[in-house]
Amino acid sequence: MQAMKLAVALHRELETDLSHQVDVYAAIERLGIAIAFLPFTNLSGAYLPPAERTGGLTGITINSRHPRSRQRFSAAHELAHYLRDGIPVEDVQTEFFPRAQGAAGEREFVAEAFASWFLMPRQLVMRYVKRLEIGKNPGPEQVYSLSLAFGTSYSATANHLVGLGILDIRQFRRLSEIAPKWIKSQLAIHGPTDSWGDVWRIDRRGDAEQVTPRPGDEIVVALEEIPSTGYTWQLARPPRGMSLLDSTFELPAGTDANSEEVFGAAGTRFVVLRAEEPGRESLELIKKHPWEPHGEVVDRFRLEILIQTRQEGFVTAPTG
Ligand SMILES: [Zn+2]
Repeated sequence: MQAMKLAVALHRELETDLSHQVDVYAAIERLGIAIAFLPFTNLSGAYLPPAERTGGLTGITINSRHPRSRQRFSAAHELAHYLRDGIPVEDVQTEFFPRAQGAAGEREFVAEAFASWFLMPRQLVMRYVKRLEIGKNPGPEQVYSLSLAFGTSYSATANHLVGLGILDIRQFRRLSEIAPKWIKSQLAIHGPTDSWGDVWRIDRRGDAEQVTPRPGDEIVVALEEIPSTGYTWQLARPPRGMSLLDSTFELPAGTDANSEEVFGAAGTRFVVLRAEEPGRESLELIKKHPWEPHGEVVDRFRLEILIQTRQEGFVTAPTG
């Protein structure tokens, strides 16, 4: 409760845009805190209040070797130490409920809860739940999609959804037994370039949304197409910072492609891209007859793609 109020108050103070993924690093920067990503062996992150050895700076350090979602969680966790505790804290584990007892246990418990509420504020969660038409007790693929939207891990997302009453304990336990790696293999066409990579499966409901892949991630845009109309989805222009891996059409499973019933049937076009270079790109797909270069565009689909930079070293060192 205390953690949630603290997160709500900070978003209010910073006037955070809660319609998209929370930019925790921008929040840290705005608070005048220096942030560094360092290759720790056993720390998730640390909080350093201003002291002689920090040259008077307030600092947060994050493990540069951790996955992006974990780093974001650690950053929000350290933010709680900044807001509440004001003492130097070194965190071995974040994203796991701490086992320490007493005052330290309470402090870590609040920091973990704060990180969840800060990265997954109710308003943001409800916006995506509505947009993606997610009902009570969503399945693994939906929880994974939400985790990508929030920039949090699958397990941290599932845990928070319990607190919000979207998942019950039984479904939470079921989801906890499923590895994100398996979910990704279900969603991927080619697969990301490394095992930490993500698969962004976007359908019509994602029109005009913003996605935040890392280089190496796979983006699969799945849109309806009816072959008998001759209209097909295609890229309006070659995308920057991404490569087009594939564009394939599939009829629903079980459809006999030789049967006459297929005429007029709807299937799915899968446009598969791979994020390559950090940067921002407005991806646009248009639906038209492929044989008419200047033919009528009967439908459009847009996606804002913010390919993330790998974070290493001293990212911000505020001056003044
Ligand atoms: Zn901590």
